[in-house]
Amino acid sequence: MPADVLYLSREGVFPIVRDADGRPLPAATGLPCSGTIQGEGKLCGVPSLFIRLQGCNLRCLWQSGSAVSPCDTAHASFHAGGRPCSVAEVLSLVDHNIGRLRHVVITGGEPLLQAPALLTLCRALKQRGLHLTLETNGTLYDDALCRLIDLLSISPKLSSSDPTPAKAAAAGVPFAPAAARHAALRVNIDAIARLVGCARECSHDVQLKFVVATAADADEIRHTYIDRLPQLSPADVLVMPLGTDPATMHGAAMAAVGMATAHGWRYSPRLHVDLFGNREGV
Ligand code: SF4
Repeated sequence: MPADVLYLSREGVFPIVRDADGRPLPAATGLPCSGTIQGEGKLCGVPSLFIRLQGCNLRCLWQSGSAVSPCDTAHASFHAGGRPCSVAEVLSLVDHNIGRLRHVVITGGEPLLQAPALLTLCRALKQRGLHLTLETNGTLYDDALCRLIDLLSISPKLSSSDPTPAKAAAAGVPFAPAAARHAALRVNIDAIARLVGCARECSHDVQLKFVVATAADADEIRHTYIDRLPQLSPADVLVMPLGTDPATMHGAAMAAVGMATAHGWRYSPRLHVDLFGNREGV
């Protein structure tokens, strides 16, 4: 992969009101300005510009009642490829749209799959004095890149995300390759420990965000992850309700509130879903 080309999802840099040449565009939010709020985690509510990269090494499929929820960014995650875009073009989009925003969120897919070009981009973004959040599923690590990140936002996946034949059929995803990939890669404590250690060493911030459906998820969070990461503070652990629509999320919300309260973790809403629904580019 060339070190100066990034593969973006179809929403790419969003929400924007200017293209890379500075020509006006309508923003997906319906607002007259670029940017949206971060909807999750410690920086929930902070106005931010997002950069979504294509491709993920996992294949999450969730079930809530009879409804199967594939990854909420399946278009960006379940397919390789994406739109090739030079680092210079991404920077031009940022420069034309950053306005008074100070926060840039790099998300996916799994951004660390594109670490070489992302390193070039992040160096340039830091030179502009911007705060960087990197959203990662916690299965990969890149030292030079992670040292530039102000908030390492790690979203390890629970077994509730594992593909099953029924979930794969409902989502229209081939079961066997998805299940094999997920089983081989989903839990990588060494990668998470290195991400947390990097944040500590650089005096940057870190969070572990878990999507939860029932109270029973707390035991898996503890046994699979938290008990094996002694350097982590409970205040760095956030739980968010499962769901890509407000009704499903609200159904899981009390389970998340209960485990946050019992373990000293934090509850995180998914504010963007409440405000905009499960839409792209907002
Ligand atoms: S790790 Fe994240 S981006 Fe990748 S499939 Fe799972 S939910 Fe989607």
